[in-house]
Amino acid sequence: MKFSDDTDRSSLLLPVHNSTDQTIPSDRTVRLLDTTLRDGEQAPGVSLSPDQKVEIARALERAGVAAIEAGSACTGAGERQAISRVTDLDLDARVTSFCRGLQVDVDLALECDVDGVHIVVPSSDRHVEGKVGTSREDNLATTADLVEYATAHDLWVEVIGEDGSRADLDYLEQLAETSLEAGADRFCFADTVGHTGPERTHEAVSRLADYGPVSAHTHDDLGLGVTNALAAVAAGADLVHCTVNGLGERAGNVALEEVAIALSHVYDVDTLELEELYDLAQIVSRATGVQLPPNKAVIGENAFTHESGIHTDGTLKDDKMYEPYSPEIVGRERRLALGKHTGRAGVAATLEEHGVDAGPDEIAEIATRVTELGDRGRRVTDADLLAVAEDVTGDDRERVVELLDLTATSGGAVPTAGIRLEVDGEERVASGTGSGPVDAAVSAVREALGSAADAELESYHVDAVTGGTDAVVTVEVTMMRDDRSVTVARSEADITRASVEAMVDGLDRLLATDEKPLAPADD
Ligand SMILES: [Zn+2]
Repeated sequence: MKFSDDTDRSSLLLPVHNSTDQTIPSDRTVRLLDTTLRDGEQAPGVSLSPDQKVEIARALERAGVAAIEAGSACTGAGERQAISRVTDLDLDARVTSFCRGLQVDVDLALECDVDGVHIVVPSSDRHVEGKVGTSREDNLATTADLVEYATAHDLWVEVIGEDGSRADLDYLEQLAETSLEAGADRFCFADTVGHTGPERTHEAVSRLADYGPVSAHTHDDLGLGVTNALAAVAAGADLVHCTVNGLGERAGNVALEEVAIALSHVYDVDTLELEELYDLAQIVSRATGVQLPPNKAVIGENAFTHESGIHTDGTLKDDKMYEPYSPEIVGRERRLALGKHTGRAGVAATLEEHGVDAGPDEIAEIATRVTELGDRGRRVTDADLLAVAEDVTGDDRERVVELLDLTATSGGAVPTAGIRLEVDGEERVASGTGSGPVDAAVSAVREALGSAADAELESYHVDAVTGGTDAVVTVEVTMMRDDRSVTVARSEADITRASVEAMVDGLDRLLATDEKPLAPADD
């Protein structure tokens, strides 16, 4: 997606030190290789099933990555099955496997029917001698042999000089020259341990690019992953290795979404379908169990959320006042959060969203009370705001849905819950089963309300407020009905009760302010 804004790029372009080619012109072709399924999966505690790899590969294809490194064929039969599932998808993206500098690894990759391989050979003396136990000369010879073997089997071949950022640059050049002369499609400059900075990256890639196509593989140990990737591109690299959400060993690889947005916003270079990025981030987060850090660029919960009164007021006057680019560009929406820093403009905008009328004096009073709630260290939810607003405006309303009774058991083979609700003055009783007591109780609520409620549970989040076994938990739910959403938090010692109360309150809020009436219970 192109930017249609009035960004003055001349003020954004970063001159790269020590270079005649000082920046990245907008007509440069840069492609992204995603290695979430290989380097990303090497993050501690992450393991992806074949089904999950397929789901992520499909999402990567929708985002338009040029290549997907689907795994390491040498890892085992399960991994090979997963890689084969990805190659079977017949994607537009090139599907590759990681290979050590061994013929057996190339053979195993061929079994998975991949389009290409990354042959990873040592390049620093630490790796040449200390890890692989060979010599510089022998390493050149075996690399050339293996490249010839792989290209003879019709594979696209990229040679990665492992630990390249700590290698003798003269030797790294020899390794690149040898690889490309033997028929490799490209050579990759690897900052394997995230050790280097943009100047060294630029110098190395400039020299390597004299021999043929160059890729960059950067890690974020110094927080320089994106900077180094951009320095590599400025020096001539045209393929950047990335992972979704910056997943990877230690501090992670450079994040796909950050490279894509930086190239687009600063240099006007398109690499991906940017509006797919947030979906992709969520799919990877769910599959890996690694949550999205709230303050992370592009994908973080707070990336397009405004709480401070000054920022909210400015944003309501002009979207771009406190945002570099519109959230829609990366498939997201702007959010105004309520809390300690909320001002009158934010309160008024949120009340309007919920269809609540309040005069200027009332809004001022509501804003003061919201700030007081925020001062106690809490995030203020929509439900909190609406409760304050009712109190201030004296606009008492009848509840549409009320929880009368809840029982839940998890002792037997199947967790079961029973629920009694009052809906529009009429009592409804239902029971449900589920994978646990919370799940059972939620299905009982759904059963009691019937399809008429047609509200979706958009997000569900639990925090332990105290640390012991008697911990009080806070459950925060966001419920959606049509295009309206409401967030409610409830704190209780019992997680099932907290979950059900939050959900029932959310439904009550959605139904109370909706013109669309609640239909009678289903039979
Ligand atoms: Zn890596």
